[in-house]
Amino acid sequence: MAAGHHQHTRSRVKTIRRSAKTNRRDSAQRFETTGRSQGADQVHAGKFSSRVGFGNDVHRLVKGRKLILGGVEIPFGKGSFGHSDGDALTHAVCDALLGAAALGDIGRHFPDTSPRWRNASSLRFLTDVCKLLDRTGFRVVNVDATISLEKPKLAPHIDRMRTCLAKALGIRLDQVSVKAKSGEGIGEIGRSEAVKAEAVALLIKED
Ligand code: MG
Repeated sequence: MAAGHHQHTRSRVKTIRRSAKTNRRDSAQRFETTGRSQGADQVHAGKFSSRVGFGNDVHRLVKGRKLILGGVEIPFGKGSFGHSDGDALTHAVCDALLGAAALGDIGRHFPDTSPRWRNASSLRFLTDVCKLLDRTGFRVVNVDATISLEKPKLAPHIDRMRTCLAKALGIRLDQVSVKAKSGEGIGEIGRSEAVKAEAVALLIKED
């Protein structure tokens, strides 16, 4: 019985090796043909197309405004100045997603001259961006973001931000990463004059 089991395992290993080799050859051929006809910018990984996008945003910190990041209100003596709620993290995530799909930027879709977006929750921008992405067929694989803010410490709020963003994006919590950095006392971040956020997003679509 033991010998039979080993034989079975050996043949399974052979089959897996053979199919891995075939898959590699197929995707290589696929990349060669599609890469040439559709341009080298369209990278095919197997039966999927993927896109990466980057977004960043800066808002001034002023008295008399709420500090909202990733849809979460952070208790602090200052808040971000802006036409909407000034949520720099959500704006950076929107731009990363729009960038990945080559759909322009947040200013194009939600102009700060429009009274419609005055004091609007930026999570609304994110759900609208998701609707635009749906039309392209792309799905969000993951989002990774970093906030630069001198004070207050954001660690206690990070998981709530991730939860809010994941919910708005319709993806799982483990697909959303939010990190925080201080400004080390240097520049506009270090002087607590501004909050900055940067984000990358990966999209995927079945060919
Ligand atoms: Mg902004």
